[in-house]
Amino acid sequence: MSEMDPVVGIDLGTTNSVVATVRDGVPLVIPNRSGQQLTPSVVAVARNGKALVGALAKRQAITNAENTVYAAKRLIGRRWGSKEVEDARRVLPYTLVAGPDGNDVRITLGGKPVSVAEISAQVLGELRADAEAWFGVPVSRAVITVPAYFNDGQRQATKAAGRIAGLEVLRIINEPTSAALAYGFGKKLEKKVVVFDLGGGTFDISVLDIGQSVYDVVAVGGDTYLGGEDFDRRVMDWLTFNFARENGGVDLRQDKMALQRLRDAAERARCQLSSTPTADIHLPFLVAGGDGKAALHLTKQFTRDKLEELTKDLVERCVAVTEKTLKDAGVRPAQVDEVILVGGMTRMPRVQKAVRDFFGREPCKGVHPDEVVALGAAIQAHALAAPPKPGSEVLLLDVTPQNLGILVVGGYFQTIIPRNTTVPTNQTHLFTTVQDNQTSVRIAVLQGESDKATDNELLGEFVLAGIRPARRGEVSIEITFDISADGIVGVSARDVATGQEQSINVTATSGLTEDELKRIIDENLDDLLEKKQSTVDLERSRARVTTAIAEIEALVPAVQAALERSRFGRDAVQKAEGVLARARLALDGKDTAELARVEEALERTLQLFKGLAASPPQGA
Ligand code: AMP
Repeated sequence: MSEMDPVVGIDLGTTNSVVATVRDGVPLVIPNRSGQQLTPSVVAVARNGKALVGALAKRQAITNAENTVYAAKRLIGRRWGSKEVEDARRVLPYTLVAGPDGNDVRITLGGKPVSVAEISAQVLGELRADAEAWFGVPVSRAVITVPAYFNDGQRQATKAAGRIAGLEVLRIINEPTSAALAYGFGKKLEKKVVVFDLGGGTFDISVLDIGQSVYDVVAVGGDTYLGGEDFDRRVMDWLTFNFARENGGVDLRQDKMALQRLRDAAERARCQLSSTPTADIHLPFLVAGGDGKAALHLTKQFTRDKLEELTKDLVERCVAVTEKTLKDAGVRPAQVDEVILVGGMTRMPRVQKAVRDFFGREPCKGVHPDEVVALGAAIQAHALAAPPKPGSEVLLLDVTPQNLGILVVGGYFQTIIPRNTTVPTNQTHLFTTVQDNQTSVRIAVLQGESDKATDNELLGEFVLAGIRPARRGEVSIEITFDISADGIVGVSARDVATGQEQSINVTATSGLTEDELKRIIDENLDDLLEKKQSTVDLERSRARVTTAIAEIEALVPAVQAALERSRFGRDAVQKAEGVLARARLALDGKDTAELARVEEALERTLQLFKGLAASPPQGA
């Protein structure tokens, strides 16, 4: 692989995703094939069995709610049975089931259980295809961002998603760190910066010391279950409650299509309230009236004050996390030089006010909250792919977001690597046998903030096998826990006396097993090749259509002049306009069959125009 192969940075968001790159030293967002900067992180199987990703999937969500997956990021790397998954099950229109060994979550899509990593892989694959269409060459390497507060399981699953999408994941980096990289790009700053990142599903806050080209993350905090979706749910609950009260107890939650329309309307109105004090919500024919009665409509005036009242505690949660993180960093709000707002939700005036009040300063408005994370990822991807010129290196010193430790007697959690330790890092811990001739030890590795093991996230259980038989306490085994620059945890073990490496078997993880992952990657390879071929065909077809449109347009004046002289073919220009309009429409879509039909029609028009333009003046 040459250094010139393109690399990209991908912000894999809860609501939307963005892909970016660095070209001629400038970071920029790559528009998708429909010309948009943001691609909805939505995957669906349409009624005709076709797989849809992005805007096409989002567009049909209302009529196909059960087979449209959004906000998969909230489920990635989560354990079946966890509180977060239970909460999600209650509100999501699609169905969740347990994975084969009961540990992870699968989503039922098109009648089949699909792992969350595979869903995210679809979104990544779409962005990859967009990037390939833009570069005109294959793209196989990427940096992908995750919330700083993501634990090991969530990071591993995100990396697996990248592999399934055929991408070599150069690094997993934290979203706020990525935003800071983009903010500081080419500026030679000396500043204490806070990145406040409130997106569709997650909240992240990071404190960084930026010194020249060193980005030193001092502390991170967050909540992987706090974002725009939670604000929307408050609005939906309020609308549902009022609707039931006004319509004799009709429960909108029983109707998946109504619920999806309600969700869309709630989000739209909420976003509108960022710039206007009131918003009207109008959903005609929302549900059937029952007993043959007319359909019921929902009409409600929504105000910014009401929105702020409904979501007051959510904003307060953001402030509480901010306060804790600053405390962890040993930094007072007044010592912060700059607060960078990231994520679509920071457009909400009440959120901005909370930030302003807490820090006593105006937050920075100089970055684009939707794009800055992907741009930072692109900068990092570029730095990892091609060694930078001396003097222009950027050093990223990130930290681990949560305590890493093990289960000890009494159900307690013993921290081995505390949160906010700079990564990569490792720590060793000595274990000994508690019984004579004990040949194996089971170790549960967890991540979290609580002293009680069960309150924390179980990353995996490891069985140390083949310990040499001896009296209890005689064998000492050194276990090394390491956290990579990606924030991913590794465990290895060694018998201290013999120096022998001890085998470790993972008996429980919250994601796909390596075998399962390999099988999915193999299955996807054929699919990817097919898709790639169709992407290439699509691009070629589009190029031909674009050229034909330009050729026809160039001939229009000559044809018009010829027609003024001739009695024949007077409606040729009018007809051609119809063909051109259809061709432009086809260019925006991805329907190769339609593009082929349009190509034929354009060819006929072109021949006709050439003939007309070349026809000699009448009577000459
Ligand atoms: P992100 O995850 O950064 O793409 O953020 C997406 C979230 O930002 C969604 O919940 C959107 O509803 C929300 N959002 C986008 N624009 C606005 C806006 N103008 N006002 C309030 N929220 C917004």
